[in-house]
Amino acid sequence: MLRAIYIAIAISLLGNLGMAQQSDHAVSSESQQIAVDAMLERANLELQRNQFIEAQKILVSAKEIASDSAIYAKAQIVQTRLYSFTGQLEQADRNISKLEKIISKDSPSYIELLLVKADVKIKEGDFVVADAALKLISTLKAENSNKELATQLEYQRANLYLHTNNLEQAIEIYQRIIPQLNRQNLFFFETKAAYNLAEAYFKNSNLEQANIAVTSAISTANALDFKGIELDSYLLKSSIAKGLGNFQQAWDYLNRYTLIKEKTVAAANAITNDPKIASTIDKQTAEISNLKKLITNQDSTIKGRNMYSILFLILLTLLSLLTLSLFKNNKLRARSNVTLEVKNSALIDERDRAQDAAKIKADFLSTITHELRTPMYAVTGLTHLLLETKPRQDQQDHLETLQSSGEYLLSLIDNILDFNKLEANKVELEKIPFDLKKRVEDITVSLKNQAKDQLNNLNLEFDTNIPSRIEGDPVKISQILINLVGNAIKFTKNGNIWIRVSQVKQIEDKCLIRFEVEDNGKGISDEKQEDIFNNFTQEGSSTTREYGGTGLGLAIVKNLVELMGSKIELDSKIGRGSIFTFDLWFELPDTNKFYEENSTKGYDHFNDEEEYPEHKKLTRSSQKSNSEVEEDEKNEEVQSDEKINKAEKDPITKTHNTDEKSKPSPAENPIISLKHATPQDLISKKILIVEDNKINQMITRKILEGKNFDCDIANNGIEALAKIKETQYDLVLMDIHMPGMDGKQCTREVRKFDRELPIIALTAVTLDESEKEFYEIGFDDIIPKPFKMNEFFEKIQKAFTNYQIY
Ligand code: ADP
Repeated sequence: MLRAIYIAIAISLLGNLGMAQQSDHAVSSESQQIAVDAMLERANLELQRNQFIEAQKILVSAKEIASDSAIYAKAQIVQTRLYSFTGQLEQADRNISKLEKIISKDSPSYIELLLVKADVKIKEGDFVVADAALKLISTLKAENSNKELATQLEYQRANLYLHTNNLEQAIEIYQRIIPQLNRQNLFFFETKAAYNLAEAYFKNSNLEQANIAVTSAISTANALDFKGIELDSYLLKSSIAKGLGNFQQAWDYLNRYTLIKEKTVAAANAITNDPKIASTIDKQTAEISNLKKLITNQDSTIKGRNMYSILFLILLTLLSLLTLSLFKNNKLRARSNVTLEVKNSALIDERDRAQDAAKIKADFLSTITHELRTPMYAVTGLTHLLLETKPRQDQQDHLETLQSSGEYLLSLIDNILDFNKLEANKVELEKIPFDLKKRVEDITVSLKNQAKDQLNNLNLEFDTNIPSRIEGDPVKISQILINLVGNAIKFTKNGNIWIRVSQVKQIEDKCLIRFEVEDNGKGISDEKQEDIFNNFTQEGSSTTREYGGTGLGLAIVKNLVELMGSKIELDSKIGRGSIFTFDLWFELPDTNKFYEENSTKGYDHFNDEEEYPEHKKLTRSSQKSNSEVEEDEKNEEVQSDEKINKAEKDPITKTHNTDEKSKPSPAENPIISLKHATPQDLISKKILIVEDNKINQMITRKILEGKNFDCDIANNGIEALAKIKETQYDLVLMDIHMPGMDGKQCTREVRKFDRELPIIALTAVTLDESEKEFYEIGFDDIIPKPFKMNEFFEKIQKAFTNYQIY
């Protein structure tokens, strides 16, 4: 309270400072002391706020009015403190030396001087002297009576510890005296102690505690306007923040420090002309500019670091977004997977249902067509038998219509069956060695009557360069050609049909063969040329009426050609005729291999040269019309009796003899001549009909008996086997599908003990049945069922090479 009153008086005095200076020098010693003390207090305050100019002014005035030496000494102590604050340490030293001599050792000012001395010496780094000064204060025991002094002493000791790196002791003292300083209202020292504590912690690498202490120092310094401490605290705070990795804060505080430091230096500069001080100030200015540079660098580093931080944040955000979108995507995918699975299974169900429906359709058609064959056999067979009974002319006409209708129905059934199989992808290609020339000639011969009926010439042009054996599927090639040539005959009247087979090229073990079927018949309009290859398509509704047909033939041809990897071409003009062309690749078999294969399989009773002996005559000519063929037939009929006799003497089995000696060589191959068989010739020939269907048994038997053959019946394979073992047959006609032992099994059994007996399979060799398999089992030939009569007898003929049956 008393202190406050002094200060108030001093302030009022200070307000009238100028007046006081002029008026009265004879102020009483007591009031002088009070005034000077107040002024010095004020000067100290200004010092604490770094208001050096103000402090200096007050000090000058205080010294002027202090006539008493003790009072003057007090002012000089404050002056020394000012020197210490502004870094003018030499001046401070000089003052201390002077004052040590003047001030009495037992006065309180002496202790104050020692405190200032210790402070200055610590700043100078002269710790021994500083220590001595502090120890001297202790010996004077002045602190016992003055608590404030005791705390200040402690404070300076802590400073000494701090500067001599006795950090633990320094920290301990600061922590202890800070609350005391606060209680004693020594706020400046309290704040300074907080700052020093922060520095001690900082030096001791305890950044967290350093930060707490410096933050407290800043807030008090800021509130009480202790500019110096505030300034130093900013710098320390900046370093601490940097150490804690808080670069933005470090930069902020460094920046604040620099700004205040600039002003402080300018203020210090203003109160001195001392060149040394000027150099100190220069140093400080240089330090400031260094700091500015540092700030700029740090700024850019911080900015850089900030940039990194920003980039890192962006990256983190992107990654999070990515993860989120992946997560969402996954969820979506999982959901759409489920949807897809549901749809998939629905589609699979649909597909299965469609496949089932297609299978049912295919199976139905297959069953129906097979079932239709048996009654159709009865129709065509019985019609044939009736025609043989020399009917009346009107009956004859009806029977012929019945026969042609039956044959049309048969071909329709065959086509439907074949097409059904092609559609169901049940058709597989065979690859067996065969003689293409013979195949084509067979077709020519079998269609010659049909051509004759239409008054057409059937011409075959077969390229002799084509190898005699090629590998492929003979059944399907025959089927294609029969369809094309059949159409050509059907749609041509009084014209010409050319079957051309030529080799396009031969590369290593492959050859490309071109097939052409040309006619000069009615031709096909441009619009219809694409359509006619589709199912059930004919040129117009009148076509059915005029020519019959189903519109399936060309669809089958197209599919078969494509199945063999080619394409069928059509060139046609209305009124000029049509040319159907396709090229097929065939592999050339290794001849030796072929014979090896056959011999090892034990089918040596059958070889290609004996395949169709009756047609050997055709192989001599490559280009013969059917009229020429007929001419040849006539010539052949008048061949020498010697040859005929030789042939007659030859039993049928000879044809199948594999004995090299008995087998005619290709050069001396006898041309087998035919004569019409007389009933006597055939009466002794025994044929076994193996057939489970009673109607078929009856018809086949009647047809054959009509030719005077001696027929026997077996209802199944087992019966047939027994009969063959006990009776010498000349020919067996073997049905294939029978209950119990089927035709194939029966033939296998027969071949175990009789390799010579001719066995002909009576079956529908359809697209997917393998001819090769039949020959491998040991059949000598195949008659397609139900058969057209002329085809049937042609095949039977082969078994009786020396007779012409019809
Ligand atoms: P189909 O002969 O049973 O009617 P195809 O599929 O074999 O069935 O033939 C389809 C149609 O193509 C025939 O109806 C006919 O109009 C036409 N066509 C086929 N070949 C010839 C040809 N060589 N000359 C003229 N028209 C033909």
